Formats: sequence, C-alpha cells, structure tokens
Amino acid sequence: APLSPESTILIVGAGTWGTSTALHLARRGYTSVTVLDPYPVPSPISAGNDLNKMLEFGDIAGEDDKERYVSEKLLEAATQGWLNDPVFKPHFHETGCIIAATSEEARAHMNSKDGPSEAKGWIPLNSKEDFIATMPKGVLSGDFPGWQGWWRKKGAGWVHARKSMESAAREAERLGVQFVAGEKEGKVDGLIYEAGDVKGVRTADGKQHRADRTILCAGANAAALFEFKGQLRPTAWTLAHIKLTKEEAEIYRNLPVLFNIERGFFMEPDEDNHELKMCDEHPGYCNWLTDSQNSKRSSVPFPNHQIPKEAELRCRGFLRETMPHLADRPFSFARICWCADTPNRGFLISKHPEYASLVLGVGGSGHGFCHIPSIGGFIADAMEEKLDPTVKECLKWRPETAINRNWDGLQGRFGPEGSNRVMDFQDVKEWTNIQV
Ligand code: FAD
Repeated sequence: APLSPESTILIVGAGTWGTSTALHLARRGYTSVTVLDPYPVPSPISAGNDLNKMLEFGDIAGEDDKERYVSEKLLEAATQGWLNDPVFKPHFHETGCIIAATSEEARAHMNSKDGPSEAKGWIPLNSKEDFIATMPKGVLSGDFPGWQGWWRKKGAGWVHARKSMESAAREAERLGVQFVAGEKEGKVDGLIYEAGDVKGVRTADGKQHRADRTILCAGANAAALFEFKGQLRPTAWTLAHIKLTKEEAEIYRNLPVLFNIERGFFMEPDEDNHELKMCDEHPGYCNWLTDSQNSKRSSVPFPNHQIPKEAELRCRGFLRETMPHLADRPFSFARICWCADTPNRGFLISKHPEYASLVLGVGGSGHGFCHIPSIGGFIADAMEEKLDPTVKECLKWRPETAINRNWDGLQGRFGPEGSNRVMDFQDVKEWTNIQV
C-alpha cells in the first residue's frame, strides 16, 4: 500500500540507527511508529551504548567519485545535526583529534590521499615532545616510540554516545513513537513472510506485529534475522575503562581524541564518573560457528562484559606508550562491542529488491555512530523511495559484492604486531575477570 502519515511502521532495534530512524519518521509526521528491542534504551548490547565515539568532519572515504560523494553527503548531514539539532548538539565536544601510526605500512595508509596534511589544516607531530605538547601537562608522559601523527584542533572531537542515543529516543517518544522493550515482548524472532513480501515480525512472546513497512536496524544481530547473502560480517571490538580521581579528571578535561590506527584510542574521561575509556586497535574479532545442518560458517554475536586477556594486554601496551603512569591501573569496566561490516565498509540502506515492504538500515562497519543525527533521514528516504540517486546506488542491496568474500579481510584496519589480523573468539583462552 502507498505510504501515508497513518501507515504502520515497525523498526526492529532501538540502537543507534533505530532511534535515529524513529526520530526522523516522527518528525516527518508518521503517527504509527513502533520500535522493538529486547532492552529499553540504551540497550546493553547496542554498539552505541558507550561513553564516547569519535567524530571528524569531512573525513571522506571511498574508492571512486561516487563513493566519495556519498561519504561527503552523509557526513555533511551528520555535521549539520551535531552543530544545529538541539537533540544532539549538547553531546558534541569539539576538542580536536590526533591521528597517528607507527609502522611504515600504517603510516603510508594514514598519509594516503584522503589523509591529513598541512594544506588541510593539520599540524604534523614528529617527535615525543610534539605529541606530549598536544595535551595539558601531566596527561601524556610516554615515549611514543616510532609514532608519527597529525593534530587537528577544530572540526573534530567526540560525542557522548549513550546520551545522544537516549536523547534521540526521548524526543522520538515525545513525538509519539512507541517503544516496546523486553526480552520477550521486544525481541524479534523472525519476520512474517506472506505473498512474497514481509508483513511484520514475530516477537519472542509469540506475538505477531503486523505493519505496512518493516525497517531492520538490529545492528550486528540483523544477520541472524534475515539472509544477507554474505553482505554483513558481525565483528566485535574491545573496550575498557579505568577510573580516574576527581583531581586527575580536572587535568584530563577537553582533551583531543588520540587515535593511533594500530595501537588504540582514547577520549577525555566522562564527566559523571571520571572514567577514561580506551579501545585497543585491531581488525576485529569474529565468532565463527558452523551450522551442523548445512556446514555453513557464520560469525555469531554474543554479549560479554569482559574482554580477552590479550586485549587487556594490548590496552596496557597502548597506555605504556602514551600514559605509562596509568598502564597498571585496574579496569573498572570492559566489554566487547559488535558491529557489522559490509565488504566495502559502506552502509547498506535500501528497500529490499524483492520484499517490497522491507527496508534495511544496517552495516555500520565501525563508523556508524557519528551519523546518529541524520542516518534515520536517509533510512526514511529509502522507505519513501526518494533517496538521492547516487546515495541509493552506493548503499543498495548488493549481494554480488559479497560473492567469494574474503572473511578474514582486514578492511583497511591495522593492529599491533601479532594482532594485525581478524581474530576468532573461539581461539580465546582467557578473559578478564573485572568485577563491576
Ligand atoms: P546498534 O547500536 O548495536 O543497535 C542494534 C540494536 O538492535 C540494539 O539496541 C539491540 O538491542 C537490538 N537488537 C538486537 N537483536 C534484536 C532482536 N532480535 N530484536 C530486536 N532488537 C534487537 N562509530 C563512530 O562513528 N565513531 C566511533 O568512534 C566508533 N567507535 C566504535 C567503537 C567500538 C568498540 C565499536 C564496536 C563500534 C564503534 N563505532 C564507531 C561504530 C558504531 O558504534 C556502530 O556503527 C553503530 O553504533 C551501529 O548502530 P546500529 O544501530 O546498526 O547497531
């Protein structure tokens, strides 16, 4: 049926993209929007339920002119949201960013044509002293062995992830969107297929939710709900927090984001609990399981509020190079965090070519959070069939790009020696044992 303001619309997943989509649909005047999720916002398994995420304006990427056009268009919309939308603006911190690399290969990648340069306003960092001078005295004390990098003071920084997501959900709810949460009531088990179309979903409590349009925004878990023909590779990364004292947190305020593309990154500690979050950098973990019936191998997400011991060691190695005075401090929190990579790390935002009422908003590919102000508008455009033609073409359903996919592909990511590969949770012998 053609869309009208009264059309019933179901969104599967109240995570980063689901809350954004709910907000945009409500702002467009849709009056019957329901979002299903096993958890109330912020879901503990949402990749967006996190203290902070990086954001860099104009960080355009792409293999060709079309992809670069789309990257620019998406980032431009997100930037407008962070700068102007009252729902998101309070959560953006324009503290600048530092990008760095160590090995020759990673440096070459960092300094490729889309990379930082003095012409684009970046300040080169070539010595330990250069790095240390980017932050207040006492923050950085490491040797930065072999580091080369760049510093950008404006047009970049971090966003408070959880608060942005909660803010989007709150505003969507205020505008009339209904959120259904619960491990039975909100957990989608499968789609309702009828007459060659998708007519809604079934939830774990056995209930059928019928709708005129179904929008799948279940992040890394989307691959378990629909056959993506290899277009999504659920992949996890690792993060940890250390607690700073109130006095330390004072010194650590308004720091630029520091990101070494093969070591890890951190942002300033959060203002509520003075916790400093860091991620160790690597090409990710899959969780490879083989289906006994058809011998098909797939990476299946699972939650864990611990990280592999080897990730802890990487985090501490990163701290030793940058802030050795914190390198042995116990972690106050850690988790694995799942995202889903497409073969080219471009998003997948499209109506399904066969199921006319199914819309897909997936494939965050490790860079989907900073789009929360605007991505829902593109997903709504896909539903309303009015996406910009180039955006539509680049983000379309594209199973042909996943034929003979290299499941171990690094996809442009790096890690320290020994971890410069996609790892498998099945091989992990030891996990942290952090008591929260
Ligand atoms: P999610 O936010 O994960 O949402 C999925 C939702 O689906 C969840 O709420 C979940 O509860 C729900 N769900 C799951 N199963 C079901 C079901 N059966 N039924 C109903 N609902 C279900 N991006 C950046 O832009 N900048 C960064 O600095 C950055 N850093 C990152 C660091 C880490 C460690 C990770 C893992 C990711 C990072 N990202 C970053 C990527 C970004 O977090 C993701 O691209 C983005 O959050 C994906 O949003 P999503 O809505 O697709 O998935």
